[in-house]
Amino acid sequence: MEDLQQRCPKCGGEMRQGVQVYRDEANYYPLYWVEGEPVKRVFLGFTGMNLDIDGRQILETATFKCSDCGFLESYAA
Ligand SMILES: [Zn+2]
Repeated sequence: MEDLQQRCPKCGGEMRQGVQVYRDEANYYPLYWVEGEPVKRVFLGFTGMNLDIDGRQILETATFKCSDCGFLESYAA
């Protein structure tokens, strides 16, 4: 995704590539795009926060941020 050169659709500023992450103490995990509605997984009769994504398409994402206004725009590939 390095060749995507973007201009901000809001203000025309320069869009810089980055990645959105989930932080768990000192660890950083990339966020993914997953197709479909969020469905919580049921385990031993209990519904937790863990999502059931079995059989779904999962893609890495790249997020661009405008250097001027801070607008974020994400792409999945
Ligand atoms: Zn902008």
